[in-house]
Amino acid sequence: MIEKAVKEVFEKHGFPVYFAEYGAVAKDKAKTEKEYKTVFLTYMSYAYSPAPQQNICRYAALEDYHKYLPKKLEGIKKDLEELFPDNIFDIYTDSSPINEKAAADISGLGIRGKNSLIITKEHGSFILLAEIISDLEIPCRVYEPVNCLNCGRCEKVCPAGALKDGRINIEKCVSALTQRKGTLTKEEEASVIKNGLIWGCDRCQEACPYNENLEESDFAKNSTKLTRVTSKDIEGLTDRQFREKYFGRAFTWRGLEPIKRNINLIENKGEGNDDRSDKGRS
Ligand code: SF4
Ligand code: SF4
Repeated sequence: MIEKAVKEVFEKHGFPVYFAEYGAVAKDKAKTEKEYKTVFLTYMSYAYSPAPQQNICRYAALEDYHKYLPKKLEGIKKDLEELFPDNIFDIYTDSSPINEKAAADISGLGIRGKNSLIITKEHGSFILLAEIISDLEIPCRVYEPVNCLNCGRCEKVCPAGALKDGRINIEKCVSALTQRKGTLTKEEEASVIKNGLIWGCDRCQEACPYNENLEESDFAKNSTKLTRVTSKDIEGLTDRQFREKYFGRAFTWRGLEPIKRNINLIENKGEGNDDRSDKGRS
């Protein structure tokens, strides 16, 4: 009964929901002051076909999901509070007290890709996980984690050699490198140049067969896209002016410096000189 009512609320707002026992996926149960019992795990797709000259990864070219997603989940929370006024419903869209990937594994939300991402049946891996955690108790079925096709395409296309044996070396991952402040090593610079994006990296997702022929997501449809930023666009800007100019964009959170460095690297040392493939683009 409770499960059905919760599912109906999520459905009403256009979100799927999967259930996991809080204790099974909590990062540190001892740290939580609240009597959480159940995780209502959900996700939002951000799939769309990138523009030909796009130089920002897919999610960051859209409006900042940190602002968009919580607003959507607020509506669900409100409805749940009306149905269950004595219970708590806390929204988590980024830093969460649970291991989201473990929750996705055991709740049946998706399968685990060799690129370390969660892949859903309907929306592939271009998704953003989020959850509402409650003290409502719902008996949760525990699913066996399922692995992907193991085709190896993601490992092959990774511009940094960051994927090996189903694990990601986050220190090498270009997505992390483009967000890191300071100077990069020559090898790291080469990876950023090879990837050709000034923020993020979508290569291992683009190559994945599960991401072929995905429908454009509502988030992408409703978002004002900003697909390209060049040295001309940021010329003469202070950090503050940069943040103001691109307010509401996820790629501003580390400030001007890493973006400037990345643009400089790519524009001066070889954007478009790699073997970027369109295969698997959503
Ligand atoms: S995001 Fe890019 S660099 Fe990181 S693992 Fe995937 S392909 Fe490699
Ligand atoms: S590209 Fe192949 S190996 Fe990599 S995550 Fe997708 S299915 Fe798995």
